[in-house]
Amino acid sequence: MSTYVERVIEETKKKNPNEPEFLQTVEEVLTSIAPVVERHPEYEKAALLERLVEPERVIEFRVAWVDDEGNAKVNRGYRVQFNGAIGPYKGGLRFHPSVNLGILKFLGFEQVFKNSLTTLPIGGGKGGSDFDPHGKSDAEIMRFCQAFMTELQRHIGPSVDVPAGDIGVGGREIGYMFGQYRRIRDAYENGVLTGKGLVYGGSLIRPEATGFGVLYYAEQVLKHEGDDLKGKTVVLSGYGNVAWGAARKIAALGGKAVTISGHNGYVYDPDGIVTEEKLNYLLEMRASRNANVKMYADKFGCQFFEGKKPYEVKADVYIPCATQNEVGMAEAEMIVGAGAKYYFEGANMPATNEAVKYLQDNGVIVGPAKAANAGGVAVSALEMAQNAQHYAWTAEEVDEKLHGIMKSIHDNSAKCAEEYGLGYDLVKGANIAGFLKVADAMMAQGLF
Ligand code: NDP
Repeated sequence: MSTYVERVIEETKKKNPNEPEFLQTVEEVLTSIAPVVERHPEYEKAALLERLVEPERVIEFRVAWVDDEGNAKVNRGYRVQFNGAIGPYKGGLRFHPSVNLGILKFLGFEQVFKNSLTTLPIGGGKGGSDFDPHGKSDAEIMRFCQAFMTELQRHIGPSVDVPAGDIGVGGREIGYMFGQYRRIRDAYENGVLTGKGLVYGGSLIRPEATGFGVLYYAEQVLKHEGDDLKGKTVVLSGYGNVAWGAARKIAALGGKAVTISGHNGYVYDPDGIVTEEKLNYLLEMRASRNANVKMYADKFGCQFFEGKKPYEVKADVYIPCATQNEVGMAEAEMIVGAGAKYYFEGANMPATNEAVKYLQDNGVIVGPAKAANAGGVAVSALEMAQNAQHYAWTAEEVDEKLHGIMKSIHDNSAKCAEEYGLGYDLVKGANIAGFLKVADAMMAQGLF
């Protein structure tokens, strides 16, 4: 591997010893772009990689709010504006007790390449808070969102930084945050957030976009293999926004999602999550105050496996849609053991680097997160485009654009892998394709 890449990985480790998830993605991305770096000696002189791994800006702030009993609470808020070379910073907000700076830096770093891959003009960012929405009332969620936006609003704007949802942040939270932004700014700048409700500037297909996008990407991979989804069983993890969209499209394509999961276990539904009633119930569960995946098992008479992950269920396709690093070596061995050929990442960095390598070494085709789940941010960018035009496209128009974008992400990743002699390695191909555009823009813009 290039000594320049090795040096930057080592320096990044020394500088950020307490950020394991960030180091994991830096190592993964830099290692796979090494062949490109070797062809471009000018990168080292311009300290391109050193700049790439350092966020342009990190904002950390206090969020003070009051619960329903009148107790004052304090959480920590963040926004990581990682790289704005190709457009305004763009990336979701995560509300989850596990949120810390290292997690948001990993998500922001991934977002830079993912956004570049969409071919749309958006830079990379990520933000959130260690606030836990589980068990909170609607009024508490609203007060928290208002307090969070009271500080965040001074750092964002439709041409500056455009946050969206992620774990714990859906349409309801975006609505409360947009209301507070509008109140403070006294201007109707609805392009400042995406994932909005339809009546105030949201885009059709945005809620479904990440999950649909994973399946549109999967379709391209299966087509490449002379295969399709009809009659295939799919193990999904998570039961939130991404899992819901994925389950919906799997059913539409003639496949069958047989599991969903949460932090406390998984549900196995051998009949498949295919009916409207079941698909809609996922939305109901996620919106309920004490959301818990077991609710599905109780309602539809399925088995709930407490404290277990769904990878022990045999299936043709695996699509993690919950959180980072849920697929380690044990889970990768189960996927290979099941004889599965396909693994697509709905969640961000759901597998360790070691697990991804094991899957690939054992013939499983891996569709990496920054390619497979890019449909969400792609439709977010389409929402920005509609807001800028003060116009709205039909569901068919948005869906067709999403389809085209996912196909181009697949084709571009495959082409880059091929060009660098890597065969059909969609993991390295996606990293290279995403990197090339950002690198060109950074080199053109001089030191920043
Ligand atoms: P939601 O908040 O809608 O759902 C999150 C799901 O993940 C829930 O089922 C939750 O279960 C589960 N989960 C969260 N933390 C853990 C944990 N520590 N262990 C096990 N399960 C967990 O989030 P999204 O569906 O929006 O996001 C899911 C993943 O997809 C994330 O990795 C996110 O970054 C990624 N993503 C999301 C996009 C989007 O458009 N929303 C776009 C691209 C990627 P429980 O409630 O039981 O904790």
